[in-house]
Amino acid sequence: MKILKVGDTKKAACNHCESFQNVTFTLRDVPFSDDSGTVKDVLVGVCDTCDSVAVLPHQSTPAIKRQLEVQRKSLESRVPAHMIDILNLASDKLGGGTEFANNIVKFYIHALSNNEISPDHLAQYLDTDLAKGPSQKRISLKGRHLQEELNLLKGVTKIQSTTDLLKSVVLKINDDLLVNEEKSTTDQLKSVLAATC
Ligand SMILES: [Zn+2]
Repeated sequence: MKILKVGDTKKAACNHCESFQNVTFTLRDVPFSDDSGTVKDVLVGVCDTCDSVAVLPHQSTPAIKRQLEVQRKSLESRVPAHMIDILNLASDKLGGGTEFANNIVKFYIHALSNNEISPDHLAQYLDTDLAKGPSQKRISLKGRHLQEELNLLKGVTKIQSTTDLLKSVVLKINDDLLVNEEKSTTDQLKSVLAATC
């Protein structure tokens, strides 16, 4: 197998142009065929004429596979038992069952990572009494952008560990939904609940 480098060129069939064209190898974000996401920075052959991806070299397939696996992998963490109770109570309050509890966490991670809900004071929750306790229960979340959003949130909050970050998110949920009963967030979550049931 010939290993290709960025900048290499060759003649190849371009689907878009429906003819042989000069292609140049370069790093591109490649969308999945079902448009459900993209794989970032993959070496591909780009048509010099129409700028569409004409060649996906064999050497790029392991990178694509790895990224797919990362995106589909679920995220697992252990937290104190009372945190699961908080999520179940919050879900109950919204009118959802315990199976909706994880969606509240995902909603928050999403909203906090793009600042729809301010992540400014998230780290402070880790100094509170409710952050303590042995981590004996498992939180398991699945989502295509979850890892990206968590990384973003780690950067903003300076909370390094995923477990700590999840703990602080749960305690923020406790504060917003159970303690302060914030109307706007509650209403948004009720819409999510209505849409998923
Ligand atoms: Zn072309």
